[in-house]
Amino acid sequence: MNLHVPEFHARNKCPLCHAGDLTDHLVLDNIRIAGCRACKFMFSRDTLPAVEIDRFYIDGYHDQRHMDGQRVNATTNLGLLQHFFPDFGRRSLLDIGSGYGFLLDKVRSNGAGRVAGVELSNAQRNYSAQQLRIETHGQMDDIPRDDKFDIVTAFEVIEHIPAPREFIVRACEQLKTGGSLIIGTDNFASGVVNSLGHQFPKWIPHEHVSFFTSTTLRQLLEGCGTLKLAGVRSYTPWELLARQIIFRATSGRRGGKTYSYETERSADSERGYRFFSLRMAINRIWFKVASAPNLNGEMMYFHMIKQ
Ligand SMILES: [Zn+2]
Repeated sequence: MNLHVPEFHARNKCPLCHAGDLTDHLVLDNIRIAGCRACKFMFSRDTLPAVEIDRFYIDGYHDQRHMDGQRVNATTNLGLLQHFFPDFGRRSLLDIGSGYGFLLDKVRSNGAGRVAGVELSNAQRNYSAQQLRIETHGQMDDIPRDDKFDIVTAFEVIEHIPAPREFIVRACEQLKTGGSLIIGTDNFASGVVNSLGHQFPKWIPHEHVSFFTSTTLRQLLEGCGTLKLAGVRSYTPWELLARQIIFRATSGRRGGKTYSYETERSADSERGYRFFSLRMAINRIWFKVASAPNLNGEMMYFHMIKQ
């Protein structure tokens, strides 16, 4: 039996502005989520070593739940892309964190030119490359830096990245001048997060390590120097609205979720994806009716143009 228990390491400087004046925004099962007093960025202060994080994504990050979840997200993310690009017009697209490749498959059949992905997980990358015949790389550095794309996307990736500024700079290198960078992540200052507090189900601080608000994400993107804001969109998934309603109606007894490191780790592979058929049927439509060109929703998307 493998009793390997990884050790957490403390980070004592803000990964975005390098200031050392930090507060404990939340403590979840002994993992501290820090808030930077200087730039307001929130991040997991206690993180697994990089080699552990890589091992987690390369070897362990695949099961039916991930596959089902990505099938559902691909329909929503295609809807988002079609808002910004009503016609892909043979544009090339690189998706970072492309998973099984479901989004790239849809983008390709909706008129994009070359599509490519970057995916750490061996199992997901193999599926994407072999089953869907999509050009899929194991890491960014497998793509030559002069190999540039019209659109670079990263959906629900940046919250997993311990050094988000370096990640954005690297993503921009694969972008043509005038090309579009699309970043989608949770807004940790949205109404649902404020209502559910520490019981918001996406506080998973060993896995999600960077927690953005619309202000901190905009600061990061515009602070890179070459990116100019072209548009935003946001929406709140109906599953989270339902949680919020139940949480309020039961005075916090139901609807929330209290984080536990051990429970998350052991449950990860066994837990099925709930309401898969229902989500598959309605999430695309929900995105169409619920998304708006503002940053008030729980999921936020930034469209930046490289100058
Ligand atoms: Zn900071």
